[in-house]
Amino acid sequence: MDARLRDRIRGCAVGAAVGDALGMPLEFGPRQPAGRLLREMRAGRIPSGTFTDDTEMALAVAESLVAQLPLDPDDLAKRFLAWYRTGPADVGIHVGTVLQHMAEGLDWQVAARVAQRAKPDAAGNGSVMRCWPVALAYWDDPERLLADSRLQSRVTHGSAECEAACAFVNAVIYFLLPGAAPAEAISKAVEVMGDGLPAELREAIKAAPGRSREELPNSGWVRHTVESAVWGLLTTSSFEEAVVQVVNLGDDTDTAGSVAGALAGAVYGLESIPERWRDALRGEWPPRSRTMWTVGDVIELADRLGGLTQAARAGLVQG
Ligand SMILES: [Mg+2]
Repeated sequence: MDARLRDRIRGCAVGAAVGDALGMPLEFGPRQPAGRLLREMRAGRIPSGTFTDDTEMALAVAESLVAQLPLDPDDLAKRFLAWYRTGPADVGIHVGTVLQHMAEGLDWQVAARVAQRAKPDAAGNGSVMRCWPVALAYWDDPERLLADSRLQSRVTHGSAECEAACAFVNAVIYFLLPGAAPAEAISKAVEVMGDGLPAELREAIKAAPGRSREELPNSGWVRHTVESAVWGLLTTSSFEEAVVQVVNLGDDTDTAGSVAGALAGAVYGLESIPERWRDALRGEWPPRSRTMWTVGDVIELADRLGGLTQAARAGLVQG
């Protein structure tokens, strides 16, 4: 694999986890004043540098993909449920509802449908926050990339906007990894999505770079998260600045930071991620295992994801 591509694949994974951890202490808080932006890892409800449910669920997606390609939604649902049963510090509202239904015995299809029916308009960011591993697994297979991005969403978030947001974000990563510039990657992703991108989400994406930071609600609605991440990517020119700008928007800071971090990491690569953030990164994985992940573990996982399709093809040849 080309060294630049490998660096961007690693950057996407580490960037997502770093953005999550940086945004963690600011979650559900107010927008930070422009002159006092948080730029350093800080403790919140959990220690400084620790990633949250966003990264934990992404690691579950990643490990499901490593276990089997294409994505097996039953396997993924089992992994989400096992994670939920450990009593994570943080669980999104919609994710919690679906996984509670599963814990009570419903299979994921029914659980997701029941939760959606109870709140028909719900379109939270709980599936877009964990979608990036699919893009890394399929960096050379755009059809599977789009299909499995949607499928991983459907296990908990079956709304059209949630599914489309996951496919869109991963399509952007798909174009960024080989070296497209951010604006080009975003317009290509919009083009590839075609009618699969709901009109209002498309408009939010197109308008994002022209918005001021005061205009971005950055709520838990998937549209707001995508809007913030696109804004961060298109209005800055480094990994650090993209992530700093987004995590300081207030409200759902860790999730927006994670999505922005995945995108910015796919642009600028691992080496561009400030060393002080990489060194601070940590998280217990699997939960309650007393095994602490650091940046090296995330890099190793990114390398495995990046090699999956080639390994599968080699297996076919050998078989
Ligand atoms: Mg979180």
